[in-house]
Amino acid sequence: MLSFDPDKVSLPAGHYINGVHQHGAGNSLLVKRPSDGKPAAELAEADASLVDEAVTLADRAVKESGWASCPPRQRGAVLRRWADLIAADSELPRLEALGSTRPIHDVIQHEIPFTAEAIRFYAECADKFSGDVLPTRAASLGMLVPEPYGVIGAITPWNFPLSMASWKCGPALAAGNAVVLKPSELTPFSTVRMAELATEAGLPAGVLNIVQGSGAVTGSALVAHPLVRKVSFTGSTQTGARIMSDAAFNGMKPVTLELGGKSPQLVFDDAGDIDEVAGRILRGFTANGGQACVAGTRLIVQRGIAPQLIETLTRLCQNFRPGVTWDETSRYAPLIDARQAAKVQQVIRAACQQGGEILVGGERFAGTGEGYFWQPTLLAGVSQDNPAVQEEIFGPVLTVQIFDDEEEGLALASHPTYGLCSGVHTKSIDHALRAMRGIAAGTVWINRYGRSGDFIVPTGGFQGSGIGKDLGRQAFEACQRYKSVLIDF
Ligand code: NDP
Repeated sequence: MLSFDPDKVSLPAGHYINGVHQHGAGNSLLVKRPSDGKPAAELAEADASLVDEAVTLADRAVKESGWASCPPRQRGAVLRRWADLIAADSELPRLEALGSTRPIHDVIQHEIPFTAEAIRFYAECADKFSGDVLPTRAASLGMLVPEPYGVIGAITPWNFPLSMASWKCGPALAAGNAVVLKPSELTPFSTVRMAELATEAGLPAGVLNIVQGSGAVTGSALVAHPLVRKVSFTGSTQTGARIMSDAAFNGMKPVTLELGGKSPQLVFDDAGDIDEVAGRILRGFTANGGQACVAGTRLIVQRGIAPQLIETLTRLCQNFRPGVTWDETSRYAPLIDARQAAKVQQVIRAACQQGGEILVGGERFAGTGEGYFWQPTLLAGVSQDNPAVQEEIFGPVLTVQIFDDEEEGLALASHPTYGLCSGVHTKSIDHALRAMRGIAAGTVWINRYGRSGDFIVPTGGFQGSGIGKDLGRQAFEACQRYKSVLIDF
């Protein structure tokens, strides 16, 4: 029985600093449950002085606890225990389902195992990847020696609170850093429990800290703190640019930025079984109510297959039903809040004013009160400069564009601003490989859409979609800085 009563869940509505819960005394922020808009808790925002305390303690902890200097296998063992505790915890799934847009079924089936596995992957990286011995003159030994940064500041969005935290903390901790993490103020609960479990697993107090609050107050204080030596952020392109600038002007610290997307799903006439292809496209833009940076929200389909595919998608879109995230039968995520719903509505309206035609959906499900469940929406008749094609909507909205030949399809697939992911659906190796080369995006999925459990495959965008990679060996390496050493003998 996975369903639960949200009023009976006790919420850790505070910060977690140096292994201790703190409530802070800053501005009070009201957190609402995304499923029904009811108040869940009040958060006292971490102001600059509390952020300073957290970062200073993290800096001290990473130096004095031996976390940075202990044998890497020892760090790996702690992370493995942490992953086991996350996978087995009974509180975590409820905190995530209550406080975010993820239905409890999805949290149990996907989010928790995915989070635990990401941490296990980085536990293994701890003693596997290192620096380099360089091909220097024979009478010298040249080496590239990695070392941790010290304190890494991490800022995560509201769409996947747990897995985003694992992507940031896993590599940073495995590489011997301390982390101060600010989750979104909209989804503050589950990461605190995650940090408690880290302490239980043996992570020294102060090596992982959670500070709560808005981006403007808590996030910007974290980025600017002089002891934060690197920043890892996931969120919108606009905020990413702000963070990059703040990091540049406050210590010239490196940033990893996983930002927005407007990813194409390019379908050729020879894509194969229509139902299978439609299923992939559908999951690609409706998973988590479309609130995923990787969402495949632009269908670019070849003329021959277009009528059948559009007809199948339209039919499948009508099968979705809203349901609160604490009900085990719910499968479909609400939008995070009223502001996000207003944004989805505003872009759809603007799209229709410029020739867009709603084939299905286009509005909220009726009768869901303050839960903003948006109907899966297909928008046809859109040109490349239509706002629904240009802007990241972050809702379940798929634009539909039709092409005749490969050149035209590839031209439509490339985006002037974003370049996060792309899907190519074809049985032709030539179409597939030319599209792989031709689309400017950090990820190309061929005959699939979405990540797998292969954590070795990194993710990260081109252009306005970001800088650097999450996941993979690359994310681990990006949590270290490299010293060049040259020894003459
Ligand atoms: P933001 O990018 O603004 O927020 C992401 C995180 O950054 C939050 O924790 C936020 O805090 C924090 N933040 C905001 N401003 C700063 C700052 N100046 N310094 C440091 N941290 C900061 O996303 P929103 O939640 O506001 O969503 C807006 C839009 O962003 C969505 O409609 C969607 O299009 C896009 N988005 C993209 C995501 C992705 O994965 N690519 C994820 C989430 C959103 P706070 O919560 O207080 O704002």
